[in-house]
Amino acid sequence: MEKASKIFFLPEAGNLALDKEQSPPEDKPGIYPCPCCGYHTLPVPLEEALAYICPVCFWEMDLFVLNEDEESDLNHGLTLYQARENYRRYGAVLPRFKQYCRPPMEQERPKEE
Ligand SMILES: [Zn+2]
Repeated sequence: MEKASKIFFLPEAGNLALDKEQSPPEDKPGIYPCPCCGYHTLPVPLEEALAYICPVCFWEMDLFVLNEDEESDLNHGLTLYQARENYRRYGAVLPRFKQYCRPPMEQERPKEE
C-alpha cells in the first residue's frame, strides 16, 4: 500500500493577526471581487484573503496561484480557469460543493459601468 501523506504548510498562518475581526462570510456582503465567480464576496483584498473560501462559488483563495492556468493545491488541482467554467455550469467550483454555496447578494454583484 502506498503511503500518501501530504503536509500542508502555510508559512503565514502563524503571523495572521488574530485581533483582526473575521466576519462570517454568510452574513455580510463582501467588498472585493472573488477571482473565480467575480462576485464581491471578499471582506479583505485578495492578497490578504489567505485560505478564505468564497461562499458563492466555493473557490478557496490561493495566493500561490498567479495565473488562471495554474493548478491550485487548495482547490483540488483545479485551475482558476476550470473553476470558473465549473461555476458557470454547476454553480460551484466542483458539483459536490454546490450544497455549501449560497446565492450572491444583490450588493455583491459586479457593478456595471
Ligand atoms: Zn467566488
